Amino acid sequence: MDFPAARAEMVERQLRHRGITDERVLVAIGEVPREKFVPERYRSRAYADSALPIDEGQTISQPWIVAAICQALELRGKEVVLEVGTGSGYSAAVLSRLATRVVSIERHESLAIAARQVLNSIGVANVEVMVGDGSQGILERAPFEAIAIHATAPGPPATLLGQLADGGRLVVPIAGDGTDLLTVFRRRNGELQSDLIGPCRFVPLVGEEGFGPA
Ligand code: SAH
Repeated sequence: MDFPAARAEMVERQLRHRGITDERVLVAIGEVPREKFVPERYRSRAYADSALPIDEGQTISQPWIVAAICQALELRGKEVVLEVGTGSGYSAAVLSRLATRVVSIERHESLAIAARQVLNSIGVANVEVMVGDGSQGILERAPFEAIAIHATAPGPPATLLGQLADGGRLVVPIAGDGTDLLTVFRRRNGELQSDLIGPCRFVPLVGEEGFGPA
């Protein structure tokens, strides 16, 4: 399979033609080899328009969702991004091209180890993968200018919102009636404002401020 050609086509058809306009995001996704983050048996579907299973019953996010989250974070290149839910490491690899540094937290140690290996193997050096309950954020590293949460929270995640810098953006799927709602929060002059990006489906955020203790 010609992965670079499939990737270029994915960027045009699934992203640009479906509302992703941030050129930096389109370029970043066009540079990350998604096939490396997908389990061997699904590799031929690496550029399909869908999430795919990874270990521990989790999923690697659909490319469009990764793009929508990155676009909503409005990254300009100088930010330190906090990511919750490393999963395969794919979205961290995309974020690594859009910001200075990415701190990514995953609750499953086996996924964190695998993600570190793939990120190293493709030369990504500005992502730090930690194991723990990301719903608590990282108080000693806060505030963050951008926070990306890749698992559905039961409601607005108070602790993580508390770690958002003034002027910062936090993107999170929030459980709604029968669907999840991808939402962006912005903090301006101390005030939080939220906007709906659109419906989506994610695995649940499991943790202290998720669905039950981790
Ligand atoms: N963005 C990832 C996909 C993430 S799937 C990718 O591109 O591959 C969501 C991930 O969130 C899962 O791996 C799950 O284990 C993790 N997760 C769920 N709750 C968490 C929590 N409280 N802290 C850290 N990780 C969590």
